[in-house]
Amino acid sequence: MVPANAAALLLQHYVDNFRCLPWRAGPGEPAPAAYRVWLSEVMLQQTTVTTVRPRFERFVERWPTIEALAAASDEDILGEWAGLGYYARARNLIACAREVARRGQFPRRAAELRRLPGIGAYTSAAIAAIAFGERVAAVDTNVERVVSRLHGLRNPKNVPQLALEMTPADRPGDFVQAMMDLGATICRPKNPRCTECPVRTCCAAFASGQPETFPERRQRAPRPHRHGVAYWTERSGAVWLVRRPAKGLLGGMAALPGNDWIADAPERANAIATVRHVFTHFSLNLQVVPRAEPTGEGWWQPLDRLEDAGLPTLYRKAIAAVLAQGDRLAA
Ligand code: SF4
Repeated sequence: MVPANAAALLLQHYVDNFRCLPWRAGPGEPAPAAYRVWLSEVMLQQTTVTTVRPRFERFVERWPTIEALAAASDEDILGEWAGLGYYARARNLIACAREVARRGQFPRRAAELRRLPGIGAYTSAAIAAIAFGERVAAVDTNVERVVSRLHGLRNPKNVPQLALEMTPADRPGDFVQAMMDLGATICRPKNPRCTECPVRTCCAAFASGQPETFPERRQRAPRPHRHGVAYWTERSGAVWLVRRPAKGLLGGMAALPGNDWIADAPERANAIATVRHVFTHFSLNLQVVPRAEPTGEGWWQPLDRLEDAGLPTLYRKAIAAVLAQGDRLAA
């Protein structure tokens, strides 16, 4: 059982070491708008704080409110999202913004927030606690690790309940952020910095002398590998781009035209560039081959205005690899 003063120790540490981030309010300040908490949490789902910070600032400068975001075109939002990964999230972001704008405001309780598109157990709890002060536990992998270590759990069962038991009724938002910060900066998966940890005196994993071994790591299934071909058609300083189908990976995003990604494919002797890209559920080898005529419905994108196309990382990498070649026009 973790002592009751663990929460107080953590909160004091949070006040003293608060990470100032554009979507946060300082300890003791009025809560940030739910729009900012929601947007940051969706962006942070698979992207680091360092990457998200400037992208968040651009997003809220362009669309300062959820109503403004809801009124924007899919294309503009997907373009602004480019490079933040996992485009199903961007599509859910659009759907959620429009649903909240239709209702007139975010629901205030985690249970209701969870019914919105793209909002899972963790995100709904984070918004409810940080923006609306609901006493709920927001458990992501960082928090799961901290709670497992505090309790000395090899198998992180029951963690949401244990996290909730630690959560104080009066400052649930600060507590959620204190736990997030501890997991991100001190109670790291490898080499936890226990000597700097405010709760080491009540940590079972620390007492064991091998904190890093808690909780036991889950075996990950190997990531499958796929192959794809993309076509490079260039004329008068512009490249032919298409829009991917709305459904599926990178749905609705700008792309080089190409074929389906399959499990096995021969090496193309005429490939002018090959890039490897890792998605959440598989890795991809994309070979870019020259093609004389444009493929499918699309548009000519000037090579000196590529950043306006809203290309996802995969195609930005592929295009950069092609542009690094001198003989790319040979079809
Ligand atoms: Fe994590 Fe070490 Fe702190 Fe325990 S003492 S919570 S293992 S950083």
